[in-house]
Amino acid sequence: MKLTIQNISKNYGKKRALNGVSFEMENGVYGLLGPNGAGKSTLIRILAGVTKASGGEVLVNGKNKKSCDREFRATLGYLPQSLDFYPEFSGLDYLRFVAALKGIKNDEVEPKIKKLAEQVRLTHDLHRKCVNYSGGMKRRLGIAQALLNDPEILILDEPTAGLDPHERIKFRNLVSIFSRDRTVLLSTHIVSDIDCIAKETVMIKDGRVGRMESTQSFVDAIGGKVWLMKMTVDELVEYQNDHIISNVIPTGDKMEVRVVSDAKPAADAVVAMPTLEDAYLYEFNAMAGDVV
Ligand code: ADP
Repeated sequence: MKLTIQNISKNYGKKRALNGVSFEMENGVYGLLGPNGAGKSTLIRILAGVTKASGGEVLVNGKNKKSCDREFRATLGYLPQSLDFYPEFSGLDYLRFVAALKGIKNDEVEPKIKKLAEQVRLTHDLHRKCVNYSGGMKRRLGIAQALLNDPEILILDEPTAGLDPHERIKFRNLVSIFSRDRTVLLSTHIVSDIDCIAKETVMIKDGRVGRMESTQSFVDAIGGKVWLMKMTVDELVEYQNDHIISNVIPTGDKMEVRVVSDAKPAADAVVAMPTLEDAYLYEFNAMAGDVV
């Protein structure tokens, strides 16, 4: 499925949350990466049909989404930022409820729930009340409900919020397996969520898309711009005011500082291998118009 986002804007009163956002998605994982308030949820909610755009259009395989909304919804799986559960619902009740909302045929419901519960490792907890699930279990239940209709496109809004590192890695693997022949849009402000699995990254800030490129291209583009250098704590306090610092490690009586900079920042600075986190910092500084 090809999804084209064309010049989408969204105003909340006088607040412009999205300002002419355009990009295209086909199979694979797409990371929507940006700081809090960038407009990620707004865009996701527009794609999921929860909010209307103020301008622009979304095309599904070249057809305006409005003209094929029913069909599109049938192929969509959506995990919102937070899920509400009826207090008396077990995980099983919840999945049955969502299956009914999605119009899944009766004879397909139980086998699907069984299979998905295995995939998200909730088989032994399905009869427990989901309000008592841990954060990770709630997220896994959320993924299972999003996958109930076997969607072609899966939209995940900050899916790893509240997960511990172990759960985050498992979640990432699950998404990666699912995305083999489908499209996943994953919004996050956590770089490591998409570092390993997103083939393309869309950087968004203040309602605008900066660049959309393969995740590797973002990293390659700052080759030769990431440096390691040593300085004292006092020097660092001063230095960080007008430089991009992506990491600091104490080494003896000095700090080893990782700096993202176009120019060599000091005579003894040595070039380091760039990461997506370095690229994220570089890109957002550039988008803010700050000197790098
Ligand atoms: P993100 O998901 O990247 O954190 P959001 O899409 O939630 O960003 O928000 C983008 C901007 O729109 C923010 O400035 C936010 O305060 C504003 N915003 C979001 N939802 C509403 C709303 N319902 N009413 C008014 N402003 C909103």
